[in-house]
Amino acid sequence: MGSCSDIIVVIEFGSKVKKFGSKINRGGMARRSAKLVKFNEPFEFVTDDIPGSPPGGAVVKVHYTGLCHSDVDMSQGEKTNYSLPLILGHEVSGRVHSIDQLAVNSDIKVGDRVMVYAIRGCGVCSRCKVHKPTFCLNRVRKTIGFTEDGGFSDYLTVSDLSLLMLVPETVAMDTACLLPCSGLTSYNAVVSILPTVKEFVTDHGVPEDCAVLLVGAGGLGLWGVQIVREVLPDGIRIVCADRDPERLAEAKAMGCDEVVLWNVKGMPKKLSVFKSGVTIHASVGRLCRSPEARRISKSPERRPYFPKKI
Ligand SMILES: [Zn+2]
Ligand SMILES: [Zn+2]
Repeated sequence: MGSCSDIIVVIEFGSKVKKFGSKINRGGMARRSAKLVKFNEPFEFVTDDIPGSPPGGAVVKVHYTGLCHSDVDMSQGEKTNYSLPLILGHEVSGRVHSIDQLAVNSDIKVGDRVMVYAIRGCGVCSRCKVHKPTFCLNRVRKTIGFTEDGGFSDYLTVSDLSLLMLVPETVAMDTACLLPCSGLTSYNAVVSILPTVKEFVTDHGVPEDCAVLLVGAGGLGLWGVQIVREVLPDGIRIVCADRDPERLAEAKAMGCDEVVLWNVKGMPKKLSVFKSGVTIHASVGRLCRSPEARRISKSPERRPYFPKKI
């Protein structure tokens, strides 16, 4: 979720809640949450009891929750098809606080470091069974932080243990919380072009002749730069386009080979530079808000390959 022009901020719940001026008295084992009660209004800070594990599920003690652009849209009333009041926050990492005794078939234990995948489908259709709930045939979409309470809270209720993934000790928890949303979105985009890139490299034998263009150097795009470097064959050039020079500087710092500063006027000309050398355009443009990205997603220059839906 989020657009490729997002700036992703990680908020640690702890002292920050008090810093916002809340007068919460925790009173022992209470749970603190920031709740969206009305669109376009500040969050309300509330306390209640730490929830128990739902049947077959768990409760996670939240360490970090990412602030996604979707959260901003939601709080500003651009996504009004959800019911309030609601605790937002779908990019969560933390430790398992409790597990329901009916939960089965899980390697997850109390105390484990975990990140949370936010989306569930019906759980029984053929697509849900192969872990593709976003394509649920029964059109069921339950999402933590949208259709049910999320991670802007000390504790998060998770109804299904399969939504929890262990976080290795080598991965920082403030990074882990971002992986199931922006990290995974970019990963899927990069992986979707992997067969085409491999085929190109096999046919031409010179990886340097192949470049991947990432449209946008925001939250998703910067993940994309790093993931392309790890996932695609060595030698592929990484090109990043954005209208913000500061973002492009960040992309460069993360290992991008070339950057393109475009605007509505300059973009087509700049892209034409790649016509001879660039065969693959990988883009998260469908998610990007900029008119330039929308234009490129419809442009014939995207050919011979452009992911239709990411
Ligand atoms: Zn997100
Ligand atoms: Zn389903």
